Amino acid sequence: MAPCDATDRALFAMERAAAPTTRNRRIDPLQRARPDSRPNSGSPALSLSEDKQMLGKAETLIEALPYFQRYAGCTFVVKYGGHAMGDPAAAHDFAQDIVLLKAVGINPIVVHGGGPQIGAMLKKLGVESTFVDGLRVTDKATAEVAEMVLSGSINKQLVGWLAAAGGKAIGISGKDGGLVTARKVTRTAKDPDSNIEQAIDLGFVGEPATIDTTILETASKAGMIPVVAPIAAGEDGQTYNINADTMAGAIAAALKAARLFLLTDVAGVLDKQKNLLTDLTPADIARLQADGTVAGGMIPKLETCVQAVEAGCEAAVVLDGRVSHAMLLEFFTSRGAGTLIRKGD
Ligand code: ADP
Ligand code: MG
Repeated sequence: MAPCDATDRALFAMERAAAPTTRNRRIDPLQRARPDSRPNSGSPALSLSEDKQMLGKAETLIEALPYFQRYAGCTFVVKYGGHAMGDPAAAHDFAQDIVLLKAVGINPIVVHGGGPQIGAMLKKLGVESTFVDGLRVTDKATAEVAEMVLSGSINKQLVGWLAAAGGKAIGISGKDGGLVTARKVTRTAKDPDSNIEQAIDLGFVGEPATIDTTILETASKAGMIPVVAPIAAGEDGQTYNINADTMAGAIAAALKAARLFLLTDVAGVLDKQKNLLTDLTPADIARLQADGTVAGGMIPKLETCVQAVEAGCEAAVVLDGRVSHAMLLEFFTSRGAGTLIRKGD
């Protein structure tokens, strides 16, 4: 997909919004307002409060109109975290949000995680893991379970949720269509005795080396929503597990996506007093990392955001995936939620 050219896509958005999805086709707008089939059969007029309620709904839609117009034809990459996936009701609302984006002419691409689900399956199967510096070593058996859970179970669950919300989703991993090739991640840590940097071998943990977005563009143009599992093959033919944030960021950068949404299990990036930081630049993030405000899973998340915006993605947002319709509230209303990361001036 070409970098987002928002302005002349408004018409396209309106056409797409008017085109019924498979699910919407079942709703006949001409029937909706007439519970009694007889014409002018005296259905009661709307009360003042009902009138106000309907007006409120219309105003909400109108509030979203400039966003629909500006972003029609653009790409949004959405990372749905394994932790955020825990609540089925929020997952259903998430699927509806994605289908709505597609219906108004935006091209959503979903990349999902699955850390907690992989951990649970390893336990169930009795696969023992070793840890170095608190990081799980992905040996051959662990990599097999990771692919099974990510590409098999979680990926298809998400495709199912999107289908139930009226969308046409296609589940793939980095292996499909040559989307991503992986290279092994190399990490180092200081030996506490000698203070010498030593290489840590995390096994089959990879990072994206090359990206070919053809499969994403082809599927999106055909009206489908790609759902990507963070698994890819290396040049050595081995299967690598990639951090889903890193995978989403690399795809967003390659597509020069208008937005990268990272849905997680916190309100956004929090300061040391646990207050939400609503706007950050790469310079702010460097400071927060240096003084230890961000830790754990938030580190790769923010590194990903910085890389994506520096590579031409317009903005990245970290937000709470457990909140119903978090993405719609963030994007289509002036209320905004979560942390917006943009390149500084
Ligand atoms: P995901 O499955 O969505 O990738 P992670 O557990 O990897 O979730 O990353 C999110 C976690 O990062 C939060 O739940 C929180 O525990 C941790 N975290 C560390 N520092 C911060 C911070 N400054 N603000 C918010 N979350 C933080
Ligand atoms: Mg994480």
